[in-house]
Amino acid sequence: MTPASDTAAAAAAAVYETDAPVLYAQQDAIAIVSLNRPKFGNAQNAQMLYALDGALRRAASDDSVKVIVLRAEGRHFSSGHDIGTPGSDFATSWPDRRTLWYDHVGTVGAETHYVREQESYLGLCRRWRELPKPMIAAVQGACIAGGLMLAWICDLIVASEDAFFSDPVLKMGVPGVEYFAHAFEMHPRIAREFLYLGERMSAQRAYEIGMVNRLVPLAELHGAAIALAEKAAQSPRFALALAKQIFNQIEDLQGKRAAIDAAFSAHHLAHAHNQLTGDWLGGVRARDVKKT
Ligand code: ZN
Repeated sequence: MTPASDTAAAAAAAVYETDAPVLYAQQDAIAIVSLNRPKFGNAQNAQMLYALDGALRRAASDDSVKVIVLRAEGRHFSSGHDIGTPGSDFATSWPDRRTLWYDHVGTVGAETHYVREQESYLGLCRRWRELPKPMIAAVQGACIAGGLMLAWICDLIVASEDAFFSDPVLKMGVPGVEYFAHAFEMHPRIAREFLYLGERMSAQRAYEIGMVNRLVPLAELHGAAIALAEKAAQSPRFALALAKQIFNQIEDLQGKRAAIDAAFSAHHLAHAHNQLTGDWLGGVRARDVKKT
């Protein structure tokens, strides 16, 4: 299958089940941003990603907001990038892009996915990571592949006991998700196991290895995230922003930005290889890796 026919097929099939894929609320100094595609495990289509960007921009701009909680409706935090729901829309042109990358629609060959993922995956994640207010992820159920990206760009992660984390995309012939923070989120020895085996990591283990800050029963997830946000919100806004910048700078001095850039190139070599030998996901779809 050529990339052009990949995108044409997806364009024909895209049907949105909601006009509100992200919800926004505020409680005192805390913005509560909720992924809202529970019917599809909060799979991330472009509609959701741009709505999320809009919500985060609103929270960033609002002087009354000091901390952001990123949570999800339904049983799962996020099943990853949308590669198989009726609302899968990677062929959709988004005029109001948030980086200066040009439109991927109309491109061919390796350029299509490279340009789209620079904007929609890597570009947006980096933009959100640099949002100068602390972000706290509240994770329940599945946090798979692209779901990891949303949790990992947050400053703190609270997980419920039922949560699990996995990046099974090696089975699609690509070496990890587009935002390759694996070896920074966990010890490289554990990260290799996580990626090579593609197994689910329980919330308990994620807590033990330091990827998760708090582990709580599901019924207490929201309250625990809000409690952390309230405590952080007691400090001055500018000090919080500076502290966040310092941590981001330290991570980048440790090589995070360069590592992710290198991994992104390898990721797209793999997509291109897959296109040359079959299709860009190696013939694998979400349903094929669901039970991993
Ligand atoms: Zn990709």
